[in-house]
Amino acid sequence: MAHASFDAARVREDFPLLARRVRDDKPLVYLDSGATSQSPESVITAEGDFYRTVNAAVHRGAHQLSEEATDAYEGARETIARFIGGRADDIVFTKNATEALNLVAYAFSNAGAPGAMDGVDEAIASKFALGPGDEIVVTAMEHHANLVPWQELARRTGATFRWVEITDDGFVDLDSAREVITERAKVVAFTHVSNVLGTINPVNDLATIAREAGALVVLDACQSVPHMPVDVAQLDVDFLAFSGHKMLGPTGIGVLWGKHELLEAMPPFLTGGSMIEIVKLEGTTFAPPPQRFEAGTPNAAQAVGLGAACDYLEALGMDNVLRHEQDLIQLTLDGLAERPWVSVLGPQDAGARLGAVAFVVDGVHPHDVGQILDDAGVAIRTGHHCAWPLHRRLRAVASSRVSFNVYSTADDVEAFLTALDRVPDIFG
Ligand code: PLP
Repeated sequence: MAHASFDAARVREDFPLLARRVRDDKPLVYLDSGATSQSPESVITAEGDFYRTVNAAVHRGAHQLSEEATDAYEGARETIARFIGGRADDIVFTKNATEALNLVAYAFSNAGAPGAMDGVDEAIASKFALGPGDEIVVTAMEHHANLVPWQELARRTGATFRWVEITDDGFVDLDSAREVITERAKVVAFTHVSNVLGTINPVNDLATIAREAGALVVLDACQSVPHMPVDVAQLDVDFLAFSGHKMLGPTGIGVLWGKHELLEAMPPFLTGGSMIEIVKLEGTTFAPPPQRFEAGTPNAAQAVGLGAACDYLEALGMDNVLRHEQDLIQLTLDGLAERPWVSVLGPQDAGARLGAVAFVVDGVHPHDVGQILDDAGVAIRTGHHCAWPLHRRLRAVASSRVSFNVYSTADDVEAFLTALDRVPDIFG
């Protein structure tokens, strides 16, 4: 099972928090990385070193520290761009993926303001023109972060919000996609990997359908970038969003990658300092991207920490990470299959999924499952995982979810399954 190129037990040693003991001195078994991952020492050090050695306002001061802080911040942008195969100019720092997705949604409604698209090529400006008769399309498996901003955009513009159905076994229904995504669609937003089902979606199939309809494509890559190689040059998408804290980086930092000609055309989401070109009392012009979308003092130390996380993942090799985590998913699916009182949500084939395994225990509320596991030191997530419509579609009130990252091991899976067996003992 273990691959020679990947030694998870060794990797674990880089993560100080994993040595913690919880609940009456039990070893921590952390299986909630899909919500927030832990950071290796190198990330914690990079963030701390920023504060210890160069902390100052970026892009503003006339002094050495500010220059060094700016170099560190912009260096992180380069590293992150390399990690996803993009250009640094096309990387916008946000506070998380939610903000990145809102930034794109607000570009559509702000584009409708008088003068907002002056000077923009007409073909590009028309892509952002949204109003009654136009449609915004998501899938039924989206996290609220890639759903509510689009519902709100529909409300602000009078456009219609629609969704592509999923199949009973947890895949995007491509027949539904062909039916729902018509020439009225202006934007199609979907997740690369579901945070509940674990399904790896066929990005290029969906993007092709969206392209043929003339829509822009927004990819929520929160659950893919941390776990598999992602190359924006290979993916036929216009925007891609992810969060630092799910990929070994700090909280408070997220990324929006966008095609340059689109970012260049887009009006800003937030306005204020740092995003301007010329400010007069009579009016203001904006800086080119990415600065146009980074109003105010940015989370520079967190960006530097995320750069260190990318370095760490790159050194492990994302192909190795993918293989390792799919092995753990296979182990989990096999273990759960031996327990007939458990139903797994999503594809039964580990090769079709990544990141997380959500499940329901017959007749037991997920919160009770979570509590029994927590008593054993096993940290999982319970609830609707910010995917309430998906749970409704699956006729589950809620579910329990284990999720993995590079430091997760077969021993973690074993400890989880052993603790899970207490559930029927207690509730049986
Ligand atoms: N999209 C997916 C698929 C997620 O799993 C998450 C977080 O759980 C998000 C978006 C939102 O991420 P954040 O809360 O960091 O903005």
